[in-house]
Amino acid sequence: MLSKKEIYKQAYTELSQRRLKRQLKKDIHLKHAVSVCPEIGELCSKLGKTSIKLSKSLLYNSDYRLKILNRISCENIKIQNEINKLLIKNHLPRDFLFPKAECEKCDDYGFVGHEKCSCLIKLIKSIITEE
Ligand SMILES: [Zn+2]
Repeated sequence: MLSKKEIYKQAYTELSQRRLKRQLKKDIHLKHAVSVCPEIGELCSKLGKTSIKLSKSLLYNSDYRLKILNRISCENIKIQNEINKLLIKNHLPRDFLFPKAECEKCDDYGFVGHEKCSCLIKLIKSIITEE
């Protein structure tokens, strides 16, 4: 019989594999999208740079930070819209670069805030019954 700790360990491993699988799918999709339309790659790296700007904005005081956050958010929306247009133009689905999590409530992390997500509870139950 598995201990509570082992059951949780198995459940967290499963959730971590789901996230890894999604990341791999995302990487493969990005490679494909860039091969069909290199501009998508440029836009995605621009998106990556905005996340660096986001972390830098934490260094500023709250008023200035808010201004920066608004600007970055507008910039992000603009870039994402351009990416979406290019995806559609190249006959790729809109969610192609952002594959959905198996559980959209917790994004495959097992928690919604501090509460256990229903998918984690289900996973734990299935591990217990499999024993
Ligand atoms: Zn969940």
